[in-house]
Amino acid sequence: MTEATKLNSLKHLAKQYARANRITLNHALNLVAAKLGFANWTKLVSASKNDWIPSSEQMTSVEAFVAHALPAADFQAGHPEAMTRRFACLEQAEQGMIEGHEYRIQVALHDVVMVGDGWSITVPENPGARPIVQTSTENDGKCPVLNPEFLQQALTLARQRAAQVRGEISTDWPRRSTKPDHEGMVRHPLWGDESAVWFCLRCDGKINGPQIAQSLWHCPDCGASPLDIFNTAFWCEDGGKSLPPVKADGAKDNDKPDFRVVNDRPKLDLNPEKITLLIRSALLDDATNISEKLGALQAEITVDDENDVWISLEEDLWPHDKEPIQALIVAAQLGLEVELETMWSTIPFHWPGLGELTSSTREYTQMMLDAYAQYDSSPDSKT
Ligand SMILES: [Zn+2]
Repeated sequence: MTEATKLNSLKHLAKQYARANRITLNHALNLVAAKLGFANWTKLVSASKNDWIPSSEQMTSVEAFVAHALPAADFQAGHPEAMTRRFACLEQAEQGMIEGHEYRIQVALHDVVMVGDGWSITVPENPGARPIVQTSTENDGKCPVLNPEFLQQALTLARQRAAQVRGEISTDWPRRSTKPDHEGMVRHPLWGDESAVWFCLRCDGKINGPQIAQSLWHCPDCGASPLDIFNTAFWCEDGGKSLPPVKADGAKDNDKPDFRVVNDRPKLDLNPEKITLLIRSALLDDATNISEKLGALQAEITVDDENDVWISLEEDLWPHDKEPIQALIVAAQLGLEVELETMWSTIPFHWPGLGELTSSTREYTQMMLDAYAQYDSSPDSKT
């Protein structure tokens, strides 16, 4: 590679980096120069006139730097060795270990989600949003994310990955979407129209070009996605002229994670429907023939406010001297008082005694059909 082509590829890399990180080309050129040990790009260019050319290793390191599209601020402060370690770290980051705790990192719809045993950290696509730290139990003292040092390391990794994702997003978008012109004009990355003023459909906020570009087209106030951002408030009669501007810098302390405890332990909610289901199931255990099974299925089961239970059994289907022993046991297990009652209602089929002759629904159905047939009346036409 000649001196000129190497300089050209450095420029090209700087351009990619500028785009991914939404900074000026000049700024990116200076960063690349700094990466190669020069105070700025001009110094690098004059050195190259004195026969300096970057080595292959140096080219590779700049390529890696651009590929990872780390935020400019990180690099400005970073020592080259520290940066190399971070690259190595990032490469393994899809799955790894912090202080002996395993984690995985994945990207879901542009959000970065880092997951470990009993915890997760989500860094949303929206640069203005706070990371969300979720734990499955409240302060049992075991969850590593509750340890500030661990949390800091994990957050750093998740944020680096998020910076990469955002870099990829803005590289895909038109340059004008992330870099306003001198009048603050920006292009919507999805609709393609240009304007210096934008409106949020969700919160009615009025947003200027630099603000919306800075937040990667998320509303700086409510965090709505680019899909909710329009250059005219078509839902307002005056097109949005009267809408208030969003707060100047959307000054949220997005450094502080938002801690949430998710209780994913199963919790029993014994409502009347569930109690009824269990009692009816127990009545079916008590039923020894089809008649009683139908009685169990047709029983009226009522649960009152104190969770006491009334069981009304049909006189023709359930022998009135038969105690539903299993149902009583289940009620006792649930701590419920039981009232047994007998009711008289319209039974589904004639000759309830037929059901006492068998415990097979198939046999019962045949007997019942035959019985109706003797009366020359099909089951369909009975009323
Ligand atoms: Zn909004």
